[in-house]
Amino acid sequence: MNAHLDAIRNKAAALLAEMPPGVTLEAAAKKRSPAEVTAAFEGGIRVFGHNYVQEAQRMLTAIKFSAEWHLIGHLQSNKAGAAVQSFDMLETVDSLKLAQRLNQVCIAIRKVMPVLIEVNSGREENKNGVMPEDVVTLALQIAGLPNLRLEGLMTMGPLSAEERDSRPFFNTTRKIFEALSGADLGSGAMRVLSMGMSGSYRVALDEGANLVRLGTAIFGARREKPLD
Ligand SMILES: *Cc1c(COP(=O)(O)O)cnc(C)c1O
Repeated sequence: MNAHLDAIRNKAAALLAEMPPGVTLEAAAKKRSPAEVTAAFEGGIRVFGHNYVQEAQRMLTAIKFSAEWHLIGHLQSNKAGAAVQSFDMLETVDSLKLAQRLNQVCIAIRKVMPVLIEVNSGREENKNGVMPEDVVTLALQIAGLPNLRLEGLMTMGPLSAEERDSRPFFNTTRKIFEALSGADLGSGAMRVLSMGMSGSYRVALDEGANLVRLGTAIFGARREKPLD
């Protein structure tokens, strides 16, 4: 018995029990080992997020269970092919150029890829994501790409020590989500609102998130190198 892995199993199960109906708990797996990720699965988690395409590919070959994997880190166009092969959802689409590239590689492998638009809800310079006022335009453009299916929005918001500081950014994102819910998005439909991390998920749930991405709350503090 390994106390660290037991703790992950128990945390995962306790956090799942805390989630309101209709909310999916996604485990953010960056820098975690296959053993740690497997413990979260054993605790009941079925959706995992990863920030890095290549690290995720190594993880997928190392683990022995199947689950849903989402890309939650920034995606460069030159990794579009690998990302489309490895992930079940891409949460960080933030430009038409990237969307068009993803659509091309999806056509080549006959896959229809669920995607979210990442919103730069804090309007931060040097941050990924689409400015709030540009989301609707990009959403309608993605709706015209046959092999992408737009399913919702994702946001990080500015990192802050105080949970309540996140509320306005989650609220901004939720309002865009609601505005888009009435739009004609082709094969897509606004279904997923991905917001909230370990330090902010309670406020995110309060603001309508139905997918929360938790790393440290499940796995503990991040190390620079994963344990095996
Ligand atoms: C790391 C990460 C998370 C989880 O962060 P924690 O603070 O460890 O819960 C969520 N979303 C994204 C995009 C991340 O990179």
